[in-house]
This record gives sequence, structure tokens and C-alpha cells, in this order.
Amino acid sequence: MTGRWVIISTDRQKRPHDFHFERATAMGRDRCPFCAGREAMTPSEVLAYRPGGGPPNTTGWEVRVVSNKFPALQVEGTLDREGDGMFDKMSGIGAHEVIIETPDHDRPLALQSEIEIERWLWACRERILDLKRDFRLKYILVFKNHGAAAGATLEHPHAQLIALPIVPDFVREELEGARRHYAVKERCVFCDIVHQELRDDRRVIQENTDAVAIAPYAPRFAFETWVLPKRHGARFEEAAKHEYESLARLLKAVVQRLNRALEMPPFNLVLHTAPFAEEVADVYHWHIEIMPKLTRVAGFEWGTGFYINPTPPEEAAQVLRAVRL
Ligand SMILES: [Zn+2]
Ligand SMILES: [Zn+2]
Ligand SMILES: [Zn+2]
Repeated sequence: MTGRWVIISTDRQKRPHDFHFERATAMGRDRCPFCAGREAMTPSEVLAYRPGGGPPNTTGWEVRVVSNKFPALQVEGTLDREGDGMFDKMSGIGAHEVIIETPDHDRPLALQSEIEIERWLWACRERILDLKRDFRLKYILVFKNHGAAAGATLEHPHAQLIALPIVPDFVREELEGARRHYAVKERCVFCDIVHQELRDDRRVIQENTDAVAIAPYAPRFAFETWVLPKRHGARFEEAAKHEYESLARLLKAVVQRLNRALEMPPFNLVLHTAPFAEEVADVYHWHIEIMPKLTRVAGFEWGTGFYINPTPPEEAAQVLRAVRL
């Protein structure tokens, strides 16, 4: 009815009794496969920055990208889409990679330097540019789970990248709304939001030359934060170098503010960017959404599809602005 897709992951197949063990705590540094010196514990790397040179899968790297050991989707095979009676199915073609942000286990985003953050953002860009040459893929989702409550099973600072053979629902929805806005006004809805919020100022958390962080007008979650580039651009991977610099600076500041105001909350960070094949250059505007995990999503939210947020965005912005960095 809704056009929803689900990945049935047979690799991760679980029998009923396996589910009890899902509550395992995040893996600490003692056996961490992402730490420098344990390169052999991960699948082979697809990209690494080694300023001093050296062979792949050895130490000396600053950022390292590897395939996920338990991928949700796999690169091999053909994209078979077929009917199954009235239903549709396709093979799970895609890619699932891990961007290890730093060799240092104890260096979460808030403690990384702006140059370090910029470096792994750049690695994401490189991977997107490489993967989008594969015509089977339609979208690349970059996200980050921070803290066990946000779904991180490894403490070591890392982001993930999933290349998908379909465009996810949230992008579809945003695109539809953005297209409607553009059809009437011939303006990008995100540019309009950026201008209005900067003028209004009540929901602005912080800005710099190229980017702005806001508490969106109707946030689903308490302290939900969006980071948008000020210059219009549909695709993250097409941003300019100085925009990555500004983004790194702002991301660090925003996470520091959340950490101080909310005592190191777990959070999810998701990059929203335009699908590959679609002509949306004027319509879509890439951005990052950060959702601290402070309240539980329960029956009401699942049932209605709308959220109860106990913190008005104006108050969230005020609290975060007041944090001294
Ligand atoms: Zn580690
Ligand atoms: Zn725009
Ligand atoms: Zn979005």
C-alpha cells in the first residue's frame, strides 16, 4: 500500500532464542577492530589516508574505510527485480562501508580537531563519488550512530555508508515537498528556511560563513538539530572545500553544545543528499540532521507517524546557544 521496502537479511538470520543476546553492550577498546594495529580484524580497506605512505591494511592511517563485516547489502550480483504475485522483490545489491574516523579509540567527534572531521567528511565524499558510478545504485546514505542507545555496537568513532538500489522514503518525501514548493515559488524550500531562520534568529543555534545550525520549526525530537549549507547545492559530494571546512567546524561545535547541555547524549546523525539519477539540482538542498536520543519512540509515534516532543525548538536553540565553548 505504501510502497515500502524492507531488507530481509538472511546473512544475519536469527532464530528466536538469538534475540536475547542483542542487548550486548558496546565493544570496548580491548578487542576493538577499528583501533590502529588491528587492521587485520576488519575486511580489507577500500580507502585510507596514509600521510607517510605504506601498504594497505597496516598502521599509519588517519582515516580508513572498510566494508562492513555484517553488510546489510552486498556489491556482488545483479539487480534482479521481479514480481512475486502481487508483490515486488529484488536482490539486495548495494554496499555497506564503515568510515573509521580516527585511529584513536577515545576521540569522539566532539574531541576531534576540525581538520580531522574535515578529513573523514572528505573520505565520505570520495566514497560517494566512486560508488555513484555504479548504475545499479540510486542513493547513498551516510549516517553515524553515537552511543549504545543510538545503536552503535562499537565505541570507536565511525560513520557508515550504505549505497542503496532504491531511494529511501524520507528522501522521497522531502523531494516531493521541495518540488511542490518549487513549482509554486520557483525557490528552494531549504534556501527559504535558511533565510527565514537567519532573519528570525530564535531557532538559530550557531552559524559560520558557509553553514548554519538550527532547531527546525517542527522538530520530531527534543534538541533535534539541522545543519545546512548556506549556498544552495543539491549534493553533498559536490560541495566546495571551504564548505567542508565550515561544516566540520559547525558539526564539532554543535556536538560539543549537545554534550554540555545534555550530558553526552547518544545521537544519530544522518546526511540527506539528492539521489543520483534525478534532476533535482534546483529543488533539493543537502543537509545533515542530528537527532539526540533523549526520549523513547513508542506506540503513539509508531501508530500515528507523528511525534511528541517535550522541548519547543526556540527553547532548545536558546539552551544550546548559551553553552560556552
Ligand atoms: Zn577502537
Ligand atoms: Zn537551496
Ligand atoms: Zn532532511
